Amino acid sequence: MGAAADDAGMVVIGAGQAGLQVAESLRAEGYVGPVTLIGEEPHAPYHRPPLSKAMLCGEAGEDQLTIRGPEALERKGIALVTGARVEAVDRVAQRVSLADGRVLAYRGLAFATGSRARPLPVPGAELEGVLALRTLIDARRIAAALEGAERVVVIGGGFIGLEVAAAARKRGRAVTVLEAADRLLARVAAPPVSAFVADLHAEHGVALELEAAVTAVEGAGGRVSGVRTADGRLHPADLVVAGIGILPNTELAEACGLACDRGIVVDACARTSDPLVVAAGDCTARRAGDGLLRLESVQNAVEQGKSAASALLGKERPFTAAPWFWSDQYDVKLQMVGLSAGHDHVVVRGSVAERRFSVFYFRDGALVAIDSVNRAPDHMLGRKLLDKAVAVTPEQAADEEFALATLVR
Ligand code: FAD
Repeated sequence: MGAAADDAGMVVIGAGQAGLQVAESLRAEGYVGPVTLIGEEPHAPYHRPPLSKAMLCGEAGEDQLTIRGPEALERKGIALVTGARVEAVDRVAQRVSLADGRVLAYRGLAFATGSRARPLPVPGAELEGVLALRTLIDARRIAAALEGAERVVVIGGGFIGLEVAAAARKRGRAVTVLEAADRLLARVAAPPVSAFVADLHAEHGVALELEAAVTAVEGAGGRVSGVRTADGRLHPADLVVAGIGILPNTELAEACGLACDRGIVVDACARTSDPLVVAAGDCTARRAGDGLLRLESVQNAVEQGKSAASALLGKERPFTAAPWFWSDQYDVKLQMVGLSAGHDHVVVRGSVAERRFSVFYFRDGALVAIDSVNRAPDHMLGRKLLDKAVAVTPEQAADEEFALATLVR
């Protein structure tokens, strides 16, 4: 195979959720050659979702975050290299170069480089006390800062911002959320869900400011003292957490000439423009229909990771299932399945007042997504309905007496 040395194995760049999955799936599929999993962070692969949930609330310790420790990986014959950054990929020589000077030959290569928090593009973003949340180290910093903070301003009313807000309220801090759009979760949820989440946070004492354009972070003596918005107001803060989205880590892939477009471009089988190179997780943009689909979720990392391992072994395992996601805020579990963008009709099943309901989204009469609040069975059923493209009418969806489960039997 190509220019690789005979003993060259599979190399995975990025030891997060997707990278781990690629490495483990290679073994599960019977690959017996060397597998090296290289990660820049100093930790073995760990779960990111609890960083903004149980961990920030003080309800989970760091020992509960590890997905697979070094010994378990060693038992599977996976060589984990932590604290190591891949700096260059030579696709002709089939070699990767690490920042510490090491060079590894590969016969198959996986990019699982993930993403990073989008930096706050305003003056004062560098002040002490202005933080973002992506890594375990970020979470430690925020948890420590929450100890001493009185007033927390969260910039961004997306999932991470809202989970941080909920955790800060649970810990008794005064919290303001500044959101640039005219509703929360505007990119991912329909107005009824946005309104429910806004009410939930208001009930828990969060000061919510919509259409709030942040113009600067202000401080004194190098430390943050508040956030200025375009209407001239200063929102006092001794801790600011920015949750304004992510940027996929594509620089390395771009530098070695792989096709990238807001993500490393892959097909449904996680294949890139180079037959020896696959990519999985947050760093990818998957071709879907005429466009590109960017997903930032555990499910995507895991499923694309499986596809990527298969592709490295010359097999096709397309990932086309409906995307799903979850978020925990206070006592509410929000679960989403499908893609609601472009919907033209919504119906509600259950009771918003009782905080147990699902919003069903339709486009041209077809079900395209379901958001469930404290209704896990609807979510699980929704995955089946969407994966099998089962015909559901808005009337059936809205009628609690109608057993949707009968449609998937
Ligand atoms: P990552 O987990 O980011 O891993 C990529 C790894 O690659 C990183 O460790 C990085 O340091 C490393 N790396 C990058 N470049 C290099 C290089 N050149 N050399 C070596 N290593 C490199 N998803 C859900 O589905 N539900 C949730 O509730 C949820 N909550 C979340 C809460 C938080 C706070 C965060 C940050 C994310 C959350 N997500 C959630 C998203 C989910 O965690 C990600 O989609 C998932 O972790 C993506 O996995 P990944 O392997 O693609 O990327």
